[in-house]
Amino acid sequence: MSKQLILALSKGRILDETLPLLADAGITPAEDLGKSRKLLFDTNLADVKLVVIRATDVPTYVQLGAADLGIAGKDVLLEHGAEGLYEPLDLDIARCKLMTAGVTGQQPALARRRVATKFVNIARRYYAEQGIQAEVIKLYGAMELAPLMNLADEIVDIVDTGNTLRANGMEPRELIAHISTRLVVNKAAMTMKHERIKPLLARLDSAVKKRQ
Ligand code: ADP
Ligand code: MG
Repeated sequence: MSKQLILALSKGRILDETLPLLADAGITPAEDLGKSRKLLFDTNLADVKLVVIRATDVPTYVQLGAADLGIAGKDVLLEHGAEGLYEPLDLDIARCKLMTAGVTGQQPALARRRVATKFVNIARRYYAEQGIQAEVIKLYGAMELAPLMNLADEIVDIVDTGNTLRANGMEPRELIAHISTRLVVNKAAMTMKHERIKPLLARLDSAVKKRQ
């Protein structure tokens, strides 16, 4: 294994909250991540590099050891599964909720429910636990459209303020999980590179605690 530590960051809204947290932990990219087309970045720490990838790809990179550490939403981790990953730190950023939602005032179907979501594994597990028969339909975006177009009776999606739902005539129903962003570590790297990973975890942990 190389001596470098690769930390995989989730693109998108998590990144906007990750960079200030990394800065608080004394980790700064060598160049502006937002302005560059590059995907791999040096940092002020000689042994730490950053990669910036799709949020849903972060668990895969870390699980397979292409990255030693990663920063990803709990929603993405629940959907992907935790095999080969440690999750030592709740970074307490990008807080939101994973919920079911449906058309405002409409009673959810009692028989087989059609559920549109990008979180198909979470949805299957959730409805099975509830003893509700569900046909889960995979979508990649704009979940709010599915009930309006009669593609689905219900959706499973991230809810923050609920404004997007309300703007589309929908309301949140059941809470599935509270979500925040987590640090994940490749299990083999945690052992093999413990000397390097330990101080990095300590930096991030104290940066998180300083904010609380
Ligand atoms: P994408 O829509 O491409 O999946 P986002 O940038 O919207 O990516 O979301 C990335 C992550 O940010 C999600 O996995 C979730 O953990 C978090 N997130 C998404 N929406 C919100 C929100 N409204 N408030 C806080 N965190 C959110
Ligand atoms: Mg989004």
